Amino acid sequence: MTDRISRRGIIGLGLGAAALAARGRAQGQDTGVGFAVVGLGKLSLGQIIPGFRNCRSARLAALVSGHPEKANRIAAEQKVPAGSVYSYADFDRIAENPRIDAVYIVLPNFMHAEYTIRALKAGKHVLCEKPMASTVADAEAMVAAAKAANRKLMIAYRCHYEPLNLNGMRLVRRGVFGKTRLVVTNMGRQSDLSDPSDAWRLDMAKSGGGALADMGVYGINGARYLLNEEPVEVRARAQTDRSDPRFQTVEDLITWEFRFPSGAVSTGTTSFNQAGTMAWEVYGERGKMVADPGCFYSGNRLTVSGVPGEGQPKIQEIDQFAREMDWMADVVRGKAPLVAPGEEGLQDMRLMRAILESVEKGGAPVRTDWGYRRAIDPAIAVSA
Ligand code: NDP
Repeated sequence: MTDRISRRGIIGLGLGAAALAARGRAQGQDTGVGFAVVGLGKLSLGQIIPGFRNCRSARLAALVSGHPEKANRIAAEQKVPAGSVYSYADFDRIAENPRIDAVYIVLPNFMHAEYTIRALKAGKHVLCEKPMASTVADAEAMVAAAKAANRKLMIAYRCHYEPLNLNGMRLVRRGVFGKTRLVVTNMGRQSDLSDPSDAWRLDMAKSGGGALADMGVYGINGARYLLNEEPVEVRARAQTDRSDPRFQTVEDLITWEFRFPSGAVSTGTTSFNQAGTMAWEVYGERGKMVADPGCFYSGNRLTVSGVPGEGQPKIQEIDQFAREMDWMADVVRGKAPLVAPGEEGLQDMRLMRAILESVEKGGAPVRTDWGYRRAIDPAIAVSA
């Protein structure tokens, strides 16, 4: 139970690109797929910009920020030319920059749609952070804009490329545990209203759903990629202390129960007032696996029990952001399938809306069988 298959897949897909990039660099050419990073906040500074160092085909080409001093400092550190630093006002000028192939949207959720659509109109491909948007209507507009522009729109679900989660998907696909009965997900953390990065997350209009949109989306997407099917119904309840200043517009703790066509059930919980947790469990007829943590940037741990080979499989740690950006680069070059297109993000947006609708209706069931089927199983795509 190693990540042999997926590593072979990635390396297999990327050898040509890596060789090309190395040759180009040796000849002083800029051959990687160039990304403009939009929004220099916690994720960009902590993970994404450092992640380019571990990429083999994605390269940092431009920065977009509302703070020119910060942007120019980072540009100098990262050897991004001064002419490739943009403000939000002059963002559309990226159309004239041939060094930019793709735009990575790392803004607060309510800004994803505007900058995705402007980037697509500028002729660029887009990698957009999760959740895809703050409303279903925005997500639909983004999908339509990508089609109209004939450009790729990929949602940044890093767990689709992460070895532990790929292992989990493959064990379920192989039927190691028998029929899957139950998937449990729990994604939450403490939030801090005085942190600007959390202030917008605690504002319904800006985040689209507090903990649910920030953390719960991992559990929703996780249940779907572990089971590789789509829920037909959801019931949900919320537990929110409205005297807590953090929870004036968003719910705090939400629990939901998805029913799947196979008969499997997934229960999910999310909260912005609990100890940091990103965990999932899969229970089959014969065995189970627990990933706790299952979706952290590093230090994830999988425990398999009840079946031959039980224990903790050794799983290679990777830079999840580098792998995801390289995957996008390969998508742009036509060397990898688009595993998480806009439609995949839109499905999670619709499911989150259904969860909130059920909460509003005091836990009444809400149908979710609107016919979405993912075109590519992430597990298969990486092993291909
Ligand atoms: P931050 O609040 O830390 O950063 C957002 C940045 O967006 C700001 O620093 C700012 O950059 C820019 N910005 C522009 N306009 C505004 C505005 N009106 N209010 C606030 N910021 C603005 O957020 P994060 O970096 O934590 O999150 C960004 C996105 O990434 C979110 O969609 C989030 O869900 C996602 N995310 C994904 C993770 C993952 O594991 N895949 C983990 C963490 C976040 P500037 O000063 O340069 O203009």
